[in-house]
Amino acid sequence: MKKFTSVAIDGPSGAGKSTVAKALAAQMHFLYLDTGAIYRTVGLAADRNGVAHKDEAGLRTLLPNIEVELKYTDQGQKMLLNGEDVSQKIRTPEISIAASDVSAVPYVREYLLDMQRDIARHNNVIMDGRDIGTVVLPDADVKIFLTASPDTRTKRRLKELQEKGIDTDFSTVYKEIQARDDQDLHRSTAPLRMAEDAVLLDTTEMSLEESIQEALKIIKMVQEGKQQ
Ligand code: C5P
Repeated sequence: MKKFTSVAIDGPSGAGKSTVAKALAAQMHFLYLDTGAIYRTVGLAADRNGVAHKDEAGLRTLLPNIEVELKYTDQGQKMLLNGEDVSQKIRTPEISIAASDVSAVPYVREYLLDMQRDIARHNNVIMDGRDIGTVVLPDADVKIFLTASPDTRTKRRLKELQEKGIDTDFSTVYKEIQARDDQDLHRSTAPLRMAEDAVLLDTTEMSLEESIQEALKIIKMVQEGKQQ
């Protein structure tokens, strides 16, 4: 069977994982999978169906009755909820919190595991999330833990939200990032942590282009190291 290559990029909110991962995937001709978008879609589905984010029983009833699909188009990954393209609707600060909430429920994580692994079984992938190197793809060929200081992450997220026309400010975004960090780090199932065999990439002082170049260097270094 053909062996595909997988690159896992984990790290806290706002570190720039998706921007870096997307650029890497384009350069390496790999598929990019944004796993956060899947949790965001489940968060949106919970809201639309009046299910509380942390209601495990409610989510157990809900998930088998909705269709969460990934679709790849010329513009990249799209998320479909019951056939509706919700790729834009899941990008609000409210859905960020909903995603963090539902993702702390063990049943939700278990339910979404196969969907993520299946993509890596059939494609060369760059996958970003919180638990890719530790849980989803523990045998990933390359693992990068991408982070930046809370201030830098807030500034990056603020810029991204403002570019989308979302009216917010530094202290609101800072608090939202802190709340998500806290929940993602301290949940009992698949908490955010660096895999033992991951390489740390701190981009606090780096531009986007520098971060991409550093990530490429790490990928090359790890792959060459494995060939020796
Ligand atoms: O990456 P993004 O900010 O879109 O993720 C939204 C939320 O989904 C995160 O705060 C995190 O709680 C959750 N998530 C997760 N595991 C992943 C990806 C995202 O728990 N692999």
